[in-house]
Amino acid sequence: MKRIGLLTSGGDAPGMNAAIRAVVRTAIYFGMEVVGIERGYKGLIDDLTVPMSMRSVSNIVHRGGTMLRTARCLEMFEREGQEKAVKTLAEHGIEGLVVIGGDGSFRGAKCLTETYGIPTIGIPGTIDNDLAYTDYTLGFDTAVNTCIEIINKLRDTMESHERISVVEVMGRHCGDIALYAGITSGAEIIIVPEIPYDMDDVIMRINRSRENGKHSNIIVVAEGVTSADAFAEKLQSVTEHSVRSTNIGHVQRGGSPSMADRMLAAQFGNKAVRLLKDGIGNRVVGIRKNEIIDMDIIEAVSMKKRFNYELYETLQMISM
Ligand code: ATP
Repeated sequence: MKRIGLLTSGGDAPGMNAAIRAVVRTAIYFGMEVVGIERGYKGLIDDLTVPMSMRSVSNIVHRGGTMLRTARCLEMFEREGQEKAVKTLAEHGIEGLVVIGGDGSFRGAKCLTETYGIPTIGIPGTIDNDLAYTDYTLGFDTAVNTCIEIINKLRDTMESHERISVVEVMGRHCGDIALYAGITSGAEIIIVPEIPYDMDDVIMRINRSRENGKHSNIIVVAEGVTSADAFAEKLQSVTEHSVRSTNIGHVQRGGSPSMADRMLAAQFGNKAVRLLKDGIGNRVVGIRKNEIIDMDIIEAVSMKKRFNYELYETLQMISM
């Protein structure tokens, strides 16, 4: 394979730039050319391409966002849009494609592979950590670290005023950001889509912690369950303690990637290009038990994410 395409798609995630750099530099190392495609599948359909060079990816390893930009693209769901995308690839002599994105972006890649025979490699880039086949996705670690930083600050003021802080985090239908941010910031309670919650139990845990000498509480709510405002309102109606709500929002998606995300980016990007170089397409790369793996894209997108109940129990035990 002599020329490959590269795009970022879906929601952006810290570490996407570092992965772009790793893809481009690895390809150049093996004597391959990389064509950058701007705005995800939208750019593939509209032929928005840029040549990528050793120097075009300088100074981006530490930057959040994606230099190739990203978009959601409805046309990619339709046959007409898909055919335009395939035409762009053919016109530029692109023989294989690397797609950095989440679940939806992988479905687009699967379609290009399955229906049109384009060798495609998916790199999991989403803060949500909602892909079943990989332990971690690119951007998740940085997003959780951002949540921790904000919860630390909230904890200071909640402690002074002896309040309960309800903090909303992202993750769509996946509770991983809430779970990891909850455990590592010392939250007492997390509310996640995978486990139905009971307000009586929430009150019981808060009261017990106060009886044990606590002056404030942190509750992390995943956006897939409800908003911080709605939860706080409901809680305030059944407790005498003062409740405040905070939605961390889009700051979770930005910022300089953490060491863990930069390391994943380097390894994922490198692995993706090595696969294409060896003529292997139709795969996604990931990490399992600290090892970089690849697997069939069709199998990967059909897997159901398993919630980590052991970690949830750990939180319950140590957050008294
Ligand atoms: P995130 O998890 O961060 O939201 P994502 O990749 O899951 O990222 P989506 O908006 O679900 O984000 O998908 C990105 C794009 O992938 C869509 O806008 C669409 O262009 C393409 N896509 C998604 N599903 C399909 C599908 N079934 N067939 C073809 N293309 C698809």
